[in-house]
Amino acid sequence: MKILLIYTGGTIGMVHDADTGSYIPFDFENLQAQIPELKQLNCKLEITSYEPTIDSSDMHPNIWVQLGETIEENYHKYDGFVILHGSDTMAYTSSALSFILENLNKPVILTGSQLPSGVPRTDAKENLITAIEIAASTRDGKPEVPEVAVYFEYQLYRGNRTHKVNAEHFEAFESVNYPPLAEAGVHIKFNRRYTQAVTEEELIVHKTFNPNIGVLKLFPGITETTVRSILSAPRTQAIILETFGSGNAPTSVWFLDALQEAIDKGILILNVSQCQGGSVDLGRYQTSKALKDMGILSAYDMTFEAALTKMMFVLEYSNDVVRRKELLGRNLQGEMSC
Ligand code: ASP
Repeated sequence: MKILLIYTGGTIGMVHDADTGSYIPFDFENLQAQIPELKQLNCKLEITSYEPTIDSSDMHPNIWVQLGETIEENYHKYDGFVILHGSDTMAYTSSALSFILENLNKPVILTGSQLPSGVPRTDAKENLITAIEIAASTRDGKPEVPEVAVYFEYQLYRGNRTHKVNAEHFEAFESVNYPPLAEAGVHIKFNRRYTQAVTEEELIVHKTFNPNIGVLKLFPGITETTVRSILSAPRTQAIILETFGSGNAPTSVWFLDALQEAIDKGILILNVSQCQGGSVDLGRYQTSKALKDMGILSAYDMTFEAALTKMMFVLEYSNDVVRRKELLGRNLQGEMSC
């Protein structure tokens, strides 16, 4: 088996900078020196390192496209791909990749760590070695995980279903609305019922995202000035509306008027719950009925990261409003349960 390791940065390869007292990204040679086991794996591992390596807070849609291109160029040369990435924005990258890699039938596994590889108690070794093993795993000659996934601390999650929940625990990620794709113990147990089916179609890599999106996170007491300034920001084409519970929002006339005016200007609004678990259910409460009636779309049980990157993808994929709405309301890559 041949696996391509793509190193973008993140804590896993960082070193402590004595001058500033902060962790800074470092080159792959350092990482390899800290994890000599990489040379003993029983698959052929090749490495490509992005320049510069970054803390994932500097992640950008351009790098998602670059990752798509790296996978496209190497697709037929490797059996699987492992992306080393900072955990902070890993769920955004894994969600974005799931949308741009259409007809993917090879594993693309993202991983990283909470402690740098050079620290004695690091989680880097296990995460990286198991991620590579998962990327190289097959059943009846076909990949076990033919999709984008995140591996962290013994759990493999679908990439567009996961969310970083902890900045300190080794169990940094959760996938509340979808079961793990695999669990690693003495053996790696794949939950085959939940992984995507292998496709025979040719890979298509969509290479653009439209980031002209605003995020309006509701809170009790939010003012009209705040709401209107977000809805009227120049060039905004879509809003992710972060609502309460099952998609609920204030019923004040000024609030509903502001949303209606945005919709009348052609802005798409996608309703995502602030809850991690469960689903938006427009109309279940009176406090979401008006949103439904004015044409606000439901993100159902999508994560915020999946909803945001799907919107960036859909805005670029089609200029047609009806088509955009149809794509947003439909499950494209296992990101939502409806
Ligand atoms: N700040 C780091 C990053 O996201 C954290 C990590 O790697 O876990 O790049």
